[in-house]
Amino acid sequence: MKTPFEAPIGRDLYVVKTGDWRFQKPVVNSEKCTLCGICFIFCPTNSIRKTENCYEADLDTCKGCGICANECHASAITMEMERRG
Ligand code: SF4
Ligand code: SF4
Repeated sequence: MKTPFEAPIGRDLYVVKTGDWRFQKPVVNSEKCTLCGICFIFCPTNSIRKTENCYEADLDTCKGCGICANECHASAITMEMERRG
């Protein structure tokens, strides 16, 4: 389930697709992941999702900050440059 951010601007609410800001994306190596959930806890945009046997980022809202990769004790997340356009 996706969670777009709604930002109050004036008296209106706008959906903010924070994924549009990203120039790099987190990629999780499922073989290294210990399923600890730390990345889920630290993600500031609530973009980390539990999958059947791992975790992954929802790229609609992931803004590419790299906090999840920095906090992962197993070094299971690497930040890769985005290809756009
Ligand atoms: S922090 Fe790293 S090891 Fe823990 S669930 Fe996330 S990807 Fe897996
Ligand atoms: S890069 Fe930042 S926004 Fe994206 S999943 Fe990791 S912590 Fe969340």
